[in-house]
Amino acid sequence: MRSLAVFALLRWSAMQLLWLALAPIAASAAPVPVDSRVCHGTSPVDVADAAADTIAFTCGGTPAAYQGASLWLRLQPQSYLPAGQAATLLVHQTRFDRLAVGFRYTDGRIEWQRVRKGAFGDHWRPGAQIAFTPNDRSASVTTILVRIDNLASAQLLRLRIVDDGEADLETGILAALIGAALTLLLAGALYNLSLAIGIRRQYLAWQGVWAIAVFAWGIIWSQFSLLVVPGIAGTLAAQTCTALSTLSMLLATMSIFTAIGPSKAPAVLRWTMVVLGAAVAVLGVPGTLAKGPLIDLLIPVLAITALGNLLSAVLCMAWGMRRGSAEARDLLAAWSVPMAAVALTQFVDIGSRLWGGGAQILVLFASAWQTIWLSIAASRRLARLRAERDLARAAEARASRLAERDPLTGIRNRRGFVDAAGALIAAADRDDATLALLLIDIDRFKTINDEHGHDAGDAVLCTIATRLTRWEGPMCVAARLGGEEFALLVAHLCGPALTSFADHVRHELAACDHSEVIGARSITASIGVTEAKGRCDFAQLYREADRALYVAKRTGRNRICRADRAAEPVEASAPVPAANQRVG
Ligand code: GH3
Ligand code: MG
Ligand code: MG
Repeated sequence: MRSLAVFALLRWSAMQLLWLALAPIAASAAPVPVDSRVCHGTSPVDVADAAADTIAFTCGGTPAAYQGASLWLRLQPQSYLPAGQAATLLVHQTRFDRLAVGFRYTDGRIEWQRVRKGAFGDHWRPGAQIAFTPNDRSASVTTILVRIDNLASAQLLRLRIVDDGEADLETGILAALIGAALTLLLAGALYNLSLAIGIRRQYLAWQGVWAIAVFAWGIIWSQFSLLVVPGIAGTLAAQTCTALSTLSMLLATMSIFTAIGPSKAPAVLRWTMVVLGAAVAVLGVPGTLAKGPLIDLLIPVLAITALGNLLSAVLCMAWGMRRGSAEARDLLAAWSVPMAAVALTQFVDIGSRLWGGGAQILVLFASAWQTIWLSIAASRRLARLRAERDLARAAEARASRLAERDPLTGIRNRRGFVDAAGALIAAADRDDATLALLLIDIDRFKTINDEHGHDAGDAVLCTIATRLTRWEGPMCVAARLGGEEFALLVAHLCGPALTSFADHVRHELAACDHSEVIGARSITASIGVTEAKGRCDFAQLYREADRALYVAKRTGRNRICRADRAAEPVEASAPVPAANQRVG
């Protein structure tokens, strides 16, 4: 007993779910309103419409044996609308070969209006509806006869009788709603696809393709496609919709599968979801092609498979979210609205509400929400990642700038100097220009520290460094190589001009004002100078300059010495008087 009740509940839930999962199959969610007010009968397909009076009608109960035959329905509009009100009959089912509607007026006349698959004429309305309105407004309609040849399933048939004016209003509102939902869906689809290409995320591509499939489904379900290809009206359109809706379940599954990787959800769960998604798509093939009783058999199987697919998808997303997957969180938020829509239809029979759009218009809006939310979430995450990347880049640039600077004086350190020298050497090599290195060492610097303190020594180093930077430019790089040793690398200067420049540097450094820290005492420097032409090696230049500097020191300090004359050190000019100079 209990298992029967559980099965009944499952079947009921599955049927409800099918509205949304397989909306096109369930173009009418409510069963035919076959109550005592509706009478039904059947006849062979080749019986003429005019033979309506010969049909044996049964009132109430469920139509049977209509597949492969003609199903006849008879209803009185006054049972649904106040007498005298002009009624429009709306039919929500498009899987049949031919549909004829006869309006019987008070004088016994019957006016027939007919559509057949591939030819709905001007009877189609947005949202898989076909409308029939009596043409003679002066007479009242007593009975409406509906004849459907080769109907796929009466279970899925829904008829509505609506007041004329209301029908037009409904059509307008529904068309606007569908248009809005389709626009949102297309925008979301294109955005997801471009995002997928931009940030190379596979799940966004699946999401984009899913949205395109739902968009295509919406175009066909709404019958807007008939504006371009009227020939697909009816069965072909409904079959395409079924194929698209079952396929879209697989596409959504793939989006979740690729978003939530093996490390974020158990393999069994992920693969169950994929297998069930694939099963829905595979079952969609007979679901698409089926005519007659097979479709009634397929509905519960498809519904249960779809339910299983949905459940495993929710579990997968929840699992991924618990394991900290941002994609799983976004997907769960995106899917929450379609899920809520499903839940709503479980408790409220939407039927033909929402201006005749029923559950399907909910599906369209929920899908649009889903895809747009995902786009927004992915963009937000992308923007955050970009901001983080920019910060990291800025920090990296700052760190590498700092790594090339001397923290005390702020000018280039040895590393920064070697880097900058590389560029200057390459340029000199290209232009076949000369390159000169001036190695500058403060004379008797230790005594400054000893006599005035380390801070005073630091201040002196900073003043010297600041003075050196004034020579910096496209042709000259300055640096503190360490301790009280500085360097200038100069391009396009050689021979006597270089000697005078080096001496000018020596004078300028000696002229620096350090009075604030060391009083009247002046500071001098010794400079080793070397030059090379064209391709040269920095290490070689440095060795030569160092050797020249050593000679300058050994021969009395406060002087320059050129490497090419290091064997016989040259005092380029009279030494500047220096208080810190002692004969060493
Ligand atoms: P010379 O004329 O032979 O070059 O004599 P010097 O005293 O300048 O050379 P020496 O190599 O004997 O001493 C260099 C001194 O520079 C020793 C060290 O205390 C000092 N020094 C090195 N780096 C710094 C620094 O960052 N700040 C200060 N205040 N002193 C430094
Ligand atoms: Mg020194
Ligand atoms: Mg030194």
